[in-house]
Amino acid sequence: MTRYRPTVVEVDLDAIRHNVRLLNPPNAELMAIVKADGYGLGAGPVARAALDVGASRLGVALVEEGLSLREAGIDAPILVLTELPPGSEKEALEAGLTPSVYSVAGLEGLAEAARAIGRPVGVHLKLDTGMHRVGLWPPEDAPAFARRILDAGLEIEGVWTHFADSERDDEGTLRQLASFRSAVEALAGAGVHPSVLHAANSGATIRLPETRLDLVRPGAAVYGLDPGEGLAHRAGLRPALAWRSAVSMVKRLPAGERLSYGGRYTLERASTIATVPVGYDDGYPRTAVGAEVLIGGVRRPVAGTITMDQIVVDCGDGEVAPGDEVVLIGTRGHERITADELAERAGTIARAIATGIGRRVPREYVSTEAPE
Ligand SMILES: *Cc1c(COP(=O)(O)O)cnc(C)c1O
Repeated sequence: MTRYRPTVVEVDLDAIRHNVRLLNPPNAELMAIVKADGYGLGAGPVARAALDVGASRLGVALVEEGLSLREAGIDAPILVLTELPPGSEKEALEAGLTPSVYSVAGLEGLAEAARAIGRPVGVHLKLDTGMHRVGLWPPEDAPAFARRILDAGLEIEGVWTHFADSERDDEGTLRQLASFRSAVEALAGAGVHPSVLHAANSGATIRLPETRLDLVRPGAAVYGLDPGEGLAHRAGLRPALAWRSAVSMVKRLPAGERLSYGGRYTLERASTIATVPVGYDDGYPRTAVGAEVLIGGVRRPVAGTITMDQIVVDCGDGEVAPGDEVVLIGTRGHERITADELAERAGTIARAIATGIGRRVPREYVSTEAPE
């Protein structure tokens, strides 16, 4: 479809490659987490870029996400991070997706589908060590549950867990790791020796080398989105996401005029106001207070209520014309607006800004590096 609106997301695949190389530990594998359509950047292109430079597996939240990657021709191992929903097992296994398992009901559905397709199926047993979202609890039940998995005719390829606060809390994270390790020891005592143990999300991969085990599972860091606490910047990760638009209309208004819905922004002096065709339907957060954009490389405040399709920007006495580039997230000259900055203004996190960018914003891919 022809595009008439200048609002686009630009995904830097070289940044993805740089980040994967940087995060990939010397003695472990890297599973790039590409759930939520690759954190909003586009799962297929991101997955390919990550696999190009040494990621050996992919992780997704939904069976549907795994199936779309297969449809896009990606044949790397793909782990589904939750149990396969009832009814999806056969299709998921036929597509070669790797299931996670942690409940008796989940195991039964999976075992039946595995028998029906008549091929050996390796699963990843997920243990809950303190996040309390999904996973086998208590982790001390691992040997008994592993026995049931094997009795059902399945193989245990991996055992894993997930951290609740690895960006900040060393003590809690290491406590989770210790609980994971003792469950793995108990499994070994019961004769179960999985080939891959994994736990580390972005925060743990960057900060706590002892959590890297056989495989790391970063998401945010792959995209150069800050996992929290400024870690992305400190680790030398490069942001892969830029979000741009262009000025659609400019007017000079006198002091006292009020802007946008509810008239919540009053001009204290005469000012040049630029309209930009991006709004909350596009994922520009309606709750962002004091957000700024770059026009001509200069920071300008978003003025008044963010509407569904448009924002207005107070440019003071700056020279601004229709068609001028507007950077919502990204770099121009010496100025940079990060997803994290916008997230902070909106009271959310960088991941939610990225995944929240609307479906109607086209994703464009840039790369100067030849694939390896
Ligand atoms: C989302 C997710 C990850 C990646 O998390 P980041 O903090 O974005 O690196 C890893 N593992 C699981 C189970 C997840 O759900």
